[in-house]
Amino acid sequence: MIQMKVPLSSPDIIEKDIEAVVGVMKTRFLSIGPKVVEFEKRMSEFAGTKYAVAVNSGTSALHLIIRGLGIGEGDVVITTPFSFISSSNCILFEKAEPLFVDIDEQTLNLDADKVEAKLESLSKEELGKVKAMIVVDAFGQPADWDRFKQIGKKYNLRLIEDSAEALGAEYKGRKCGSFGEAGVFAFYPNKQITTGEGGILVTDDAELARLARSMRSQGRGESGEWLDHERLGYNYRMDEMSAALGCSQMKRIEEILDKRAKVARMYGEKLAEVEEVQVPFIADYVSRMSWFVYVIRLERGIDRDKVIKYLNEEGVQCKPYFTPIHLQPFYRKMFGYKEGDFPITEDVSGRTIALPFFNNLKEEQIEYVVEKLKCGLQAQGKNSI
Ligand SMILES: *Cc1c(COP(=O)(O)O)cnc(C)c1O
Repeated sequence: MIQMKVPLSSPDIIEKDIEAVVGVMKTRFLSIGPKVVEFEKRMSEFAGTKYAVAVNSGTSALHLIIRGLGIGEGDVVITTPFSFISSSNCILFEKAEPLFVDIDEQTLNLDADKVEAKLESLSKEELGKVKAMIVVDAFGQPADWDRFKQIGKKYNLRLIEDSAEALGAEYKGRKCGSFGEAGVFAFYPNKQITTGEGGILVTDDAELARLARSMRSQGRGESGEWLDHERLGYNYRMDEMSAALGCSQMKRIEEILDKRAKVARMYGEKLAEVEEVQVPFIADYVSRMSWFVYVIRLERGIDRDKVIKYLNEEGVQCKPYFTPIHLQPFYRKMFGYKEGDFPITEDVSGRTIALPFFNNLKEEQIEYVVEKLKCGLQAQGKNSI
């Protein structure tokens, strides 16, 4: 077999996308112009929310939600340790504290039963500090939203949806992003659609949207006077080129989601006979999966890192996904987390591999990846460590 080079991800940029970006560059409006407004309209319509506020990253959108909801020092926010780090860092930005709860072994999303058990176990005083939950739709699979909404209500918690990985995903027929008081999408080049860098906050809460608009632009008031600042703000604005790219990409969002689903299906078929590999599990309440990455799990006892090394050497770019947040060096240092604190997250993390995954991944590339994976598994055989 001749060696191929298969990247982990690759943005899908067509001529029309390029024209859209160049078109903006021929106008006077490179920032604060009509494209951001158009992009926000498209995104709020898509997510089914009243408002959308475009910003320069998904992380910025999360930060504005935390700040906008008034979460700060002394407050505690429940979230998952199995995620990209910004879903937890946004809590630290405002000096609040994350309270991690372990994930469901199958869906890899926050485990609603464990969340309830955790809340039940807290003293009245501790419970009083818990203000919110940031629930992530991990890898594009919706969390069990009926449960989280019910828990949020019961314990009077603000509910935030980190849907950065789940644009277009649906839970029981309803689109992700709209389940909490506010949700987030992100547009880094490995996400379902890209704006280069970028993110957006979606919400039905007029006050939160108003605050977010002000804070993304140096705390300016609605009058828009350039040197009037009503509150502490940031420069989190999305520029016009990015918004134009986002608008152009959103025109073919259905096609993009279908292409990704097709790639996932091909992987699923070709991996079905590989005994040591567990393919992604999709819960029955998921009416539409929005594939962000294709993450497999190896059987226990296989040296995952050796398999990854072998694949990389064979030209197949792949990565462990994710390293648990609580075991990141500065989380250990700040909160004293250690191995064993969240056993399911740790067990899963030690066995995952994100395989190459993007819209235009070809069947022969998938075959190559699967073939090399089989070779890698054989070489590392389960009893070889
Ligand atoms: C990508 C991502 C974000 C936001 O990332 P940015 O790089 O800041 O746009 C937030 N949460 C999760 C779970 C993500 O995967």
